[in-house]
Amino acid sequence: MKFDCEIIQDLLPLYIDDVCSIKSKVVIEEHILECSKCKELLSELGNQAVTQELSIEKNRVIEKHLKKERKRSTMIGLITAAVLMIPLIVCLICNLAVGHALNWFFIVLTSLMVFASITVVPLLVNDKKILWTICSFTISLVALLGTICIYSGGKWFYLAVIPCVAGLVICFAPFLIRYISLPKGVCNHKALITMSVESLAVYSIIAVVGIYSKYPGYWAAAIPITTYCLLVPWGIVLVLRYLPISKMFRASIACLVSSLLLTFVNDVVDWSIGDFNGICLAKADFSNWNTYTNDGNVGWCILVIGVILTLIFAILGCVRLSKREIK
Ligand SMILES: [Zn+2]
Repeated sequence: MKFDCEIIQDLLPLYIDDVCSIKSKVVIEEHILECSKCKELLSELGNQAVTQELSIEKNRVIEKHLKKERKRSTMIGLITAAVLMIPLIVCLICNLAVGHALNWFFIVLTSLMVFASITVVPLLVNDKKILWTICSFTISLVALLGTICIYSGGKWFYLAVIPCVAGLVICFAPFLIRYISLPKGVCNHKALITMSVESLAVYSIIAVVGIYSKYPGYWAAAIPITTYCLLVPWGIVLVLRYLPISKMFRASIACLVSSLLLTFVNDVVDWSIGDFNGICLAKADFSNWNTYTNDGNVGWCILVIGVILTLIFAILGCVRLSKREIK
């Protein structure tokens, strides 16, 4: 062999890309006829080059389709926005002609903004669609309630807005937290952050209702009942997320904690309204469902179902544990 394998192997990538000189090409081809090791390497490199080429081509096709799709959805979004402008302009002219001022026009404007937030926004936005859609929906809903409140001269703005926004936060916080970049120290505690935000949302609803209702004894009853009810989701989240035992045992404890808390919720209500007669489970009568027996029947149902689920998960946990020990 005229040339060393190392020299030939250095030249092989250039040969595959067809960028080496004719002289080198001849040398490589002559060498390969005699050397099986370099021949094998050439075919391997050739295969790798084909795979790379295919992957580049695949990404190019996907990118092209995505671009086309984005262009199409932007177009549909702009057309929808343009269509929504027609009733808006008609209302603008009518409001000016009839009332010689702009008042109910803003109600139409904000109503269309609510509609556009769930139709136009997802079509026009390419990144973080859900986040942008929910944010724009919330802002336009607040604007709509605000304009209706001003137009009707009502004093209920906060009473309507806070529960609406809090309700949206409670529903969507678990999804939205994924889009928010959190500092390193807390990014592993998304469940805790979500639960804290949702608890604040619940308390804000209780607070705004209390401020508006001015009902005597409201706070003394509402705060303990709300806090006790929040213990159920908090208990489940803390047990499922942080207890250092197997999944089945965690599920078992979560069932036990939540069913026990729910079973005695009536005692907390009684205590909050000053009608506490000690912790006790009301008598059940499953043949008779009325105002006097409903509490006991529901309480016993929750307790029995909770205990059954607790036992099922605990047994499954033990079975898994013993299987693992046998292995
Ligand atoms: Zn060789």
